This record gives sequence, C-alpha cells and structure tokens, in this order.
Amino acid sequence: MDFLRETLDDLARNGLLRETRCIDGPQGPVVRIAGRSVVCLCSNNYLSLASRPELARAAAKAAEECGCGTGASRLLSGNMALHDDLESAIARLKRRDAAILFATGYMANVGTIPALVSRDDAVIVDKLDHASIIDGCRLSGAKMLVYPHCDPERLEHVLKQAARCRRRLVVTDSVFSMDGDVAPLPEIADACRRRGAMLMIDEAHATGVLGATGRGTEEHFGMAPSGIIVMGTLSKAAGSLGGFVTGSRDLINYLRNLARSFIYTTALPPPVCAASLEGLRLIAGDTRPREKLRANIELLNDLLQSRGLSAGQNVTPIFAVRIGEVEKAMAVSRRLFAAGFLCPAIRPPTVPAGTSRLRVSLQADHTEDQIRGFVEALEDARACEIEG
Ligand SMILES: *Cc1c(COP(=O)(O)O)cnc(C)c1O
Repeated sequence: MDFLRETLDDLARNGLLRETRCIDGPQGPVVRIAGRSVVCLCSNNYLSLASRPELARAAAKAAEECGCGTGASRLLSGNMALHDDLESAIARLKRRDAAILFATGYMANVGTIPALVSRDDAVIVDKLDHASIIDGCRLSGAKMLVYPHCDPERLEHVLKQAARCRRRLVVTDSVFSMDGDVAPLPEIADACRRRGAMLMIDEAHATGVLGATGRGTEEHFGMAPSGIIVMGTLSKAAGSLGGFVTGSRDLINYLRNLARSFIYTTALPPPVCAASLEGLRLIAGDTRPREKLRANIELLNDLLQSRGLSAGQNVTPIFAVRIGEVEKAMAVSRRLFAAGFLCPAIRPPTVPAGTSRLRVSLQADHTEDQIRGFVEALEDARACEIEG
C-alpha cells in the first residue's frame, strides 16, 4: 500500500494536504483554537444559531425525554413525533405540501437525484454545483450534462439536446457555496418549464438567509411556490444538522419509497431534531439575526469595494476574495491567522487551479469592529504576499 504515503507526500508537496484543526468550546463569531481566540470567518453558521441557548435547551430536553439514539431507520421503529414535526416545519417554511428528512444535506442529494433519474434520463447541472450534487448525479447513472455557470440560455440549449431522453432533471445550487452568488432562478425555472424538465434547487446557503422571512431564493425573487423541488440543510443557518427535500405529497411519498439514503440509514437522534425545530422557529420568529447579518453583509461590501477587493454587490454572507496561486492564498491565510482571523484558503480541487481564494463567510453576531479589523488585516497580508 505504498500509494497511501506517495499520495499524501504529493499532496503535501503541492500545498494541497488537508488537515483538521480543533475548536475548543462552542461555535460562534469567535472561536478558541489551541488556547487562542480568533474571529471565525469560515463557518456556515450564518445566523449564529449553532450555540444559541434556545437550541441547546431544546436538545437537552429532548435527550432527557426521548434519549439520544433512535435505534433504527425511519421506516422501521426509528420514526418519532419530532421527525414528523420537523418535516411539517420545513414544509411550512418552504411553502410546500410535505417534506422528507435525511441525515445530512449530502445524503439528501445522493439519495434524491438517483431516485428521480437513471440510465434512460439526463441530469443537467451548473458547472459550479456542489460536490454532493455531482456525486448524486454519478450514482444515478443518468447522462450528465453541464451548462456554463448561471447561464439560462445555454441551459435551454442543453435541454434541447436532451429532448429525447425519457426524463430531464436540472439541479442547481440556488446560492453558490464558493462565491455566494445567486442563481437566476426565474429564468432557469422558465427554461425548465418550456422544455418539460424537472427542476431541483439546493438551498443549503439560502435557507434562513435569503428573503424577507428567510424562506429562501423563491422569496428573494418574489416567486410563488411552484413545482420546483427544494432541497436544503439544517446544518447552516438553522444551526443544527440534517438534510431535507420538500415538494408535493407525491414527490415526498415517492422519495420515502425510493431514496436509498433515506431507507437504509438510522433516523436522526431526538436532540438533533429538537435543535433543528428550535432553529427553524427562530428563523421564522426572530428577525434580528437576519437583520444583523444583512447589516454585516452591507458593511463588508462597502469595505471590500472601497479597497478594490471585490467584484460586485453581495446579497449573501459568502464573499470570495481571489488570490490566485495556492501558495499565495495559503500565505495570506497564515498571516490572517497570526493576526487573529480564521479564514482558510480554498484550493483545488474544490476550485479550479489558479483561482485559489479566501472564502469569507459572515455571521449575524460578528461585530463591526471584527469586520473592520479583518479587512485591515487582509489588506496588510495581501500587500506582503502579492505586491511585496
Ligand atoms: C453544505 C452543503 C451541502 C451538504 O449539506 P450537509 O448538511 O453539510 O451535508 C449540500 N449542498 C450545498 C450547496 C452545500 O453547501
């Protein structure tokens, strides 16, 4: 098994070796690493709900009352009232008839896509779709076609090419995980309608964030709920864990019978479901975190723009600061860490070679001082590594 060592050495030589770092204590705008407090700019905990006492209390109560394990899949004896309640809450948030829970968002995508399409079908994806969508497409065995990023005209062209396939399924991130840009959903939905294709959107980064009441991308664009299949996760803005798909009652019953990552795995534990329910309750009932997050997005937009560090006006908490080569991105990230800011570089294969970047993600509980301090440290680090 020499290939293990050889591969690891190769990765290390190219600056691509990945390692975990350990966070002590709770997640939040500031985290502790090896005894140091640093401002965390790489979490998807957008509304800072992951360590809210309300979620912790709900989880503790559920653990006391219902225990920590479910012992079986949902279809055997694992299904509990909390699962049903959580599915109802997800359907209400997304204004759909029904919802189905998965253990994670990753499992929602790798279970749903192969349930909907197979060998005689085509699955059509945006070039920058999330890895879990791509893995779902590969598992499905359907013919996979790719359209250029956020390009509804080219999508329609690809749909024409796939006209003779039995079914056509288009899957796109609604908010793209690396750059934080929003897919042109109204135009994509029109193209799918015209070409008789199913449309599934991945709302991992939109849920709780986009739209006046946090319902997501449809609300952001003022679109009425329609036949779009909505997938998402409870692990980001909702502050907990769990994937979901929501849509018509037929779709959900179909997935309960055909999605293998739903059928052949154990139901989520009660404390996790209770925390998710509380997270969704706060998304709907407490507008302050979303308002605070919006103010932080505005502030970082202004600061980056005035320094020529960003391309446009962001509407999501994800900002990409392009650096270029892997080594430079890593060096900027190391300097930021030394200055008290945790903001790892995103490298190939997650992004194309030569486009290594910092992916900055904001939280509701970041303070103005923390954001201003970060931009100053970023300017200094870039000056040392790129111009210097
Ligand atoms: C994070 C993410 C997922 C996976 O969700 P998990 O619940 O973390 O497994 C799926 N799609 C996108 C776009 C994501 O960013």
